[in-house]
Amino acid sequence: MKKVRAAVITGKRANMAKRKRPVAAVKEEIISQTYHTFPDAAEVVLLRSQLLSWYDKDKRELPWRTLAITEQDLNIRTYAVWVSEIMLQQTQVATVISYYNKWIKRWPTVQDLAAATLEEVNQMWAGLGYYSRGKRLHEGARKVVSELNGEMPQSVDGLLKQLPGVGRYTAGAIGSIALGQVTGAVDGNVIRVLCRLRAIGAESSSPAVTEALWDIANSVVDPNRPGDFNQAMMELGARICTPKAPLCSQCPVQSHCRSYQKANYAKEQSTKKLLGKTRKGSPPDIEDCVDSEACLLCPSEPWDSELGVMNFPRKPAKKPPRVERTLTGLVLRHRADGQDEYLLTQRPSKGLLAGLWQFPSILEVGISEVEHKRALCTEICRILGTGFSEDPQFVGEVVHIFSHIHQTYVVYSVCLKARGSANHCETVQWLSRSALQEAAVSTGVKKILKLYDSVDKSDHQTTNAAKRKKSVPTKNKNSCAARGDSKQLSLTSFFKNIKEEN
Ligand code: SF4
Repeated sequence: MKKVRAAVITGKRANMAKRKRPVAAVKEEIISQTYHTFPDAAEVVLLRSQLLSWYDKDKRELPWRTLAITEQDLNIRTYAVWVSEIMLQQTQVATVISYYNKWIKRWPTVQDLAAATLEEVNQMWAGLGYYSRGKRLHEGARKVVSELNGEMPQSVDGLLKQLPGVGRYTAGAIGSIALGQVTGAVDGNVIRVLCRLRAIGAESSSPAVTEALWDIANSVVDPNRPGDFNQAMMELGARICTPKAPLCSQCPVQSHCRSYQKANYAKEQSTKKLLGKTRKGSPPDIEDCVDSEACLLCPSEPWDSELGVMNFPRKPAKKPPRVERTLTGLVLRHRADGQDEYLLTQRPSKGLLAGLWQFPSILEVGISEVEHKRALCTEICRILGTGFSEDPQFVGEVVHIFSHIHQTYVVYSVCLKARGSANHCETVQWLSRSALQEAAVSTGVKKILKLYDSVDKSDHQTTNAAKRKKSVPTKNKNSCAARGDSKQLSLTSFFKNIKEEN
């Protein structure tokens, strides 16, 4: 049986390989396969009304939704929806709300945003992740002001072509929500809902599936309330038709759902089988794709009864994240007023965490503490433009997960005695603790600081116990001296020691 199935799958893949044809031809074929579309106009009308009634009753009140309804100025409305859509890319609604409110309060119009500096934008974005999004919003605002007379594009095509970082989905979402244009908007939630509604099980990022989903979305969107309809689809995907454990019993469009019918049918069949009630050769009780072997939208994998409706959609296998270890040096110096300052460097303007500030960091060199310290000291000396005599202390490790990188920061701290040391340039600065809290830094930097504080606290408790015995005068707990990092060792003797240990 396994062999037969494998042969069928191989044959199907071979078929797919043979079927490399122009997109238009593929589209035409998909449209003719009514199983994966909504050919019945009455069904579409019913689906719209059921979905919108549920949305009207159950939708979450969100600040950008309120603005999209209440803001009369089209330019401001388009700008406000644009900001929300960019913030919501890859970030949960609950996280976005406070950032959005602060952003709109500070920069209520595209002109206000254009007048801000990138540093201010990065500061505002700090902690939201995927930092290039803030930068692109800023670039877009400047473009609107300098090239488009301050007028946001007023069509899906204009949004797509004229705003950096705006792709097909974002243009569709802004166009429908802010401008009332009748267009679908296919994001991750909508992909899942549509794939389940129409039993589309081929790899969801394949060109054939992508085109089919956009065609379906454009055909079902409500012409009278396109923005609400698209938001309702997304809301359904986020709250009911969730990736895991979807709440089918609460679904307003359950009666249109082919995957729900399939899952139910499969359940019934297995019950009948258990009770010995199946008859060989009996016709299927539910509609199925007429040509599933050759269909570009049907799954290439067999039905998994454990998964039920979650057989749809099928995602491409995820690449495992790259594992990276970074040596990070928390370099402090003691100010005359008793406060500490932290050394920060700015990341390059392109790539991961572009333009954000970080503690001096380099990719891990070697595995021993001696090798780590040697590499970090060299890097810190390069940044400072001078040597130093203090010995870095191991603080601990911090793990931070990016979408594609599993990052471990191996953290050392060092308190410098000399106060004048630093290369003064735009990409290096000493910041007080309060300035650091406000600076444009990533979540990774905040985690490192938290680790340092926690170690500092436990060090402090230990030190206090020792102090009670020795009656040594105390210092500010956050200061270099209080950390006991001031074990003096000249750089020369430090390297000498390393040599000896080697
Ligand atoms: S019935 Fe279930 S699978 Fe189908 S759309 Fe609703 S929640 Fe999703």
